[in-house]
Amino acid sequence: MRIIHDLDEMTETARGWLAGGSVGFVPTMGYLHEGHLALVRAAHQECEISVVSIFINPLQFSRDEDLISYPVDPERDLQLLSDANVDVVFIPRAEEVYPAQFSTYVTPTGPTIKRLEGLTAPGYIRGVATIMTKLFQLVRPDVAYFGQKNAPQITVVRKLLRDLNIDVHLRVLPTVRESGGLALSSQAYALTPVEQEAARVVYRALLTGKALIEQGQHSAAAIEKAMVDTIATEPLIELDYAHVYHPETFLVLKKVLPGAMLAIAAHIGRVRLLDNIVWREDANWLL
Ligand code: AMP
Repeated sequence: MRIIHDLDEMTETARGWLAGGSVGFVPTMGYLHEGHLALVRAAHQECEISVVSIFINPLQFSRDEDLISYPVDPERDLQLLSDANVDVVFIPRAEEVYPAQFSTYVTPTGPTIKRLEGLTAPGYIRGVATIMTKLFQLVRPDVAYFGQKNAPQITVVRKLLRDLNIDVHLRVLPTVRESGGLALSSQAYALTPVEQEAARVVYRALLTGKALIEQGQHSAAAIEKAMVDTIATEPLIELDYAHVYHPETFLVLKKVLPGAMLAIAAHIGRVRLLDNIVWREDANWLL
């Protein structure tokens, strides 16, 4: 497994891959868990060369405290990636990614982005779009792997690839959960056992919505109310939103039909919990 820190070295290495077969790329912010590793394994199985980046992107954080307190464990990450037979781990340095004179940003706009701005932290969308554009330029992957859990991120990346004609195929894999249903996340590691138990209510609320739909309820208002009421049973959890969306446009739906996404964002202390399930067009659920 090769570890690359230098941007020039990454560019040179990627240039050498042009004739070497397909490149699968998993961008992460590190502190890896099974959710990341599912993406890494898919990249390894489906592509000739697998690349994982670890970079805590300062541009997508609106509060310095969140950036500073983001968990890190580089040694453990490298061991996990080595065990998964990853070919290259790209760990760029923040001062090289954003040097002092850096001033070019990728800023998605339009109605979908406007809706997403209401659901994400200030600067998040521009931060994600800018770093992903840079990483795609540096790594030059054929396929990029993302988890369904962070649906706003997927929408931003999909739009970016389309609008800027970036020739990367997007692969979205299901959310990986612990046995109690809580979606794995680097920050959820910081939860105490009591908080973790409380956090499980997010997935339970999504399943409550799913059960109602399966009983024939198609009113989004009724499903949203059931999700909100379920979250309210856990005093430690502060709800941001619980809505039924179109999974690509993030339009809030009134009537729930196949192709709808139930999404919840909530806080427990400083930790943000983000989760969704999708009632797919083929009427199967992506849980
Ligand atoms: P992050 O390190 O949080 O930026 O996440 C890196 C990638 O891993 C993103 O594509 C996330 O959607 C994905 N990811 C994070 N948590 C999970 C999970 N529990 N299941 C599947 N993918 C995940």
